[in-house]
Amino acid sequence: MALDADKWLSGDPEIARLLNEETTRQRTTLQLIASENFTSPAVMAATGSSLTNKYAEGYPGRRYYGGNQIIDEVEDLARERLKALFGAEHANVQPHSGANANLAAYMAVLNPGDTILAMRLDQGGHLTHGSPASLTSKIYRFVSYGLTPRSDDPESLGEMIDLDQLRDLALAERPKLIVAGATAYARTIDARDYRRIADEVGALLMFDAAHPAGLIAGGAHPSPVGVADLVTFTTHKTLRGPRGGAILCSEELAKKVDAAVFPGLQGGPLEHAVAAKAVAFKEANTPEFKAYGHQVVANATALGDALTHEGFRLVSGGTDNHLVLLDLTTFDGELTGKEAQEAMDRAGITANRNTIPDDPRSPFITSGLRLGTAAETTAGMGTAEMATIATLIARALRSRNDEAQLAAIRSEVAELCGRFDPYAEFGA
Ligand SMILES: *Cc1c(COP(=O)(O)O)cnc(C)c1O
Repeated sequence: MALDADKWLSGDPEIARLLNEETTRQRTTLQLIASENFTSPAVMAATGSSLTNKYAEGYPGRRYYGGNQIIDEVEDLARERLKALFGAEHANVQPHSGANANLAAYMAVLNPGDTILAMRLDQGGHLTHGSPASLTSKIYRFVSYGLTPRSDDPESLGEMIDLDQLRDLALAERPKLIVAGATAYARTIDARDYRRIADEVGALLMFDAAHPAGLIAGGAHPSPVGVADLVTFTTHKTLRGPRGGAILCSEELAKKVDAAVFPGLQGGPLEHAVAAKAVAFKEANTPEFKAYGHQVVANATALGDALTHEGFRLVSGGTDNHLVLLDLTTFDGELTGKEAQEAMDRAGITANRNTIPDDPRSPFITSGLRLGTAAETTAGMGTAEMATIATLIARALRSRNDEAQLAAIRSEVAELCGRFDPYAEFGA
């Protein structure tokens, strides 16, 4: 149904073959990339629909082209469902991606040259939080906060967001906007901690919930909605929708946000993606999704515990969310993130290398690995499977130069994935 490539792409066997191979890869190897998930076939069906044909520049009731009566109903449903899901006053569902949502949010409230206080990239922040390689840093002036130093005292957890440093920088730099949120940080980020500091210096607060949006929707993490002035997120990470972004804000900022997305930043919205977002928002507003959000966190905790027993160190001393950031140096001082990622790939375990705080290696090599549980939890795995996965990872990394061992692990991985198939309804 959702991906009958053989039928609909029979005239393009090259792409048909690749689509089938990718679906098979996702079903037979472990997907541990923290920013990925498995959408429902319903979300996929909406993504692959006739709505991709329609131009709908503007917003429901105010479009530049004709023929948008049905599209208006689709986008209205998406906006209403999203507002209901998070209890927000206003929602914009048109951003093509999380990066676009962030750019639009900046554009809605800032002028070029304004100061933004956001998280350091090498300690967990995102490219759009002011990387020299990102357009954001060419338009705005970024100042960065980071983590507290690492602590080996089990009583005082290190590598947590340094709120004292954040406050000192806010007082010294007087940013117009403070950005909360990260791409590789395993602990809870509570918007209320940021709100106090933003209020003290008269700054606006944006919460980039790209990663935890699904955990927030599922009630497993505190909600920034109503606390931060702007909440941006991706719809495809823990929220389990199609690739895309969205912005939530107050009625007061609604016009500015909408104008920043279109015509400020984008042209025609991807209404097939908007329909798929609507499907995902409905799926996320269910008791099943609440249970899912809590299971994702329980699984990450179990995975982190089991990996600790294998000799890895967890950055920030553990996890509260869907991901663990592994320091490989305690497991094997010679092992780089790049080598680990490549060996795991050969064993059928997909994850990404990641810098760790004060990483002595370059961002291309790294000393860390980031693992997430959102996708395999969707596939039905629980804490017992997380313990198994930790063993498989440790074995793969110990025998990273032994192709026979890696092949043996790969077949164990395939057996495990066969018992937890995210797309059983697609058939064999
Ligand atoms: C993933 C991510 C984004 C960007 O999302 P894209 O859809 O890849 O553009 C923005 N901010 C954070 C914190 C992220 O983790």
